Amino acid sequence: MGRQKKNPVYCLLKKSGHLNQIPEMGKETFYSNKGHKLDANFARCAYEAGEEIIRYRGSNTGRISKIKWDGSFSVAPPHNEPLPTHTESASQEKARQYPVCVICENGEEILADHVIVIDKLCFGNIAKIFLEYEEAFWENDVGSISLIYEDDTPASVSTNKMQWLKYVQSFSVPRPKERLMFGHILIGWCPADIADLVETMTDGELSTAITDHLKMFFGRSNIPQPKSILCTKWRSNKFIKGSYAFLPVGVDGQVMDTLAQPLVGSRHPDQILFAGEATMKTLYGTVQGALLSGHREADRLAAHYKKTVAPTSTTSLDKQV
Ligand SMILES: Cc1cc2nc3c(=O)[nH]c(=O)nc-3n(C[C@H](O)[C@H](O)[C@H](O)COP(=O)(O)OP(=O)(O)OC[C@H]3O[C@@H](n4cnc5c(N)ncnc54)[C@H](O)[C@@H]3O)c2cc1C
Repeated sequence: MGRQKKNPVYCLLKKSGHLNQIPEMGKETFYSNKGHKLDANFARCAYEAGEEIIRYRGSNTGRISKIKWDGSFSVAPPHNEPLPTHTESASQEKARQYPVCVICENGEEILADHVIVIDKLCFGNIAKIFLEYEEAFWENDVGSISLIYEDDTPASVSTNKMQWLKYVQSFSVPRPKERLMFGHILIGWCPADIADLVETMTDGELSTAITDHLKMFFGRSNIPQPKSILCTKWRSNKFIKGSYAFLPVGVDGQVMDTLAQPLVGSRHPDQILFAGEATMKTLYGTVQGALLSGHREADRLAAHYKKTVAPTSTTSLDKQV
């Protein structure tokens, strides 16, 4: 909002009342397979739940290098700040035996009764190249620009790397209100192995190649170079390593069910649990799938404790998970 207020065009439009005439994108709605509409705040709730976890664990937890399980570990895990419902005292915690020990690259050890692991199946990639221009050279009312080859079929980049540009065929144009905030931006979409390739290229290489490409398609030699460029790097990010899971041809979705099965120890069941979009065969590749897989594993633990904790026990469920 701060940036909007500083934008003179935005202020003028707002004052004149024209801002209300700018079309908005339709809102998103979510429907459950249980036959009802989900709360419109679904996405915000997921975001807030994530924030809560980061606040609890700290955002700088190290990269996990190893998970030991089916053991007996007893050093208290370092908590930045206890969650309100987890009220074990420090001495109680030290005495506790944990079957799982998560070891981070920075040497930190996190002890747990259960670990929900995010794992992957076949992992794709998709890249977005953000190109910022001084002025728009495209028509004002377009939402996307597609580049159509009428007489050419690009060869695979696995045999000819130079063909990559031919696969950058679609550019999104931000909506009018977004333009007021962010300026004149085109977003180029790069699929699969093209995404892997563009991640390795410099901004200069991308800028020159895409500008020449656009000149050819627009039939104009005066298309400018972008004033800035930003390319996503999902594959090379060591914590992400790609975009989302996919099932290769001939692979049954049941492998995702298998992936979702917990590791069962000799003394403690369900020590390592698997969540993440790749464990949801009906919703893989989506945030909804990732969120619901977390719910599924939480339900699994809740069911486990319902079975094993005697109703008369004074120990609450909260204290054990
Ligand atoms: C460009 C793009 C567009 C997308 N668009 C949509 C969309 O429109 N709608 C939609 O529903 N979905 C979309 N998705 C997919 C969606 O973002 C993912 O499906 C979802 O985020 C997966 O969640 P996850 O919890 O399974 O995995 P992630 O969100 O990847 O979470 C895994 C976490 O584990 C951490 N981690 C990994 N390795 C280690 C390690 N060794 N040690 C410690 N931590 C580690 C990572 O840092 C990360 O925080 C898009 C994805 C991309 C890339």
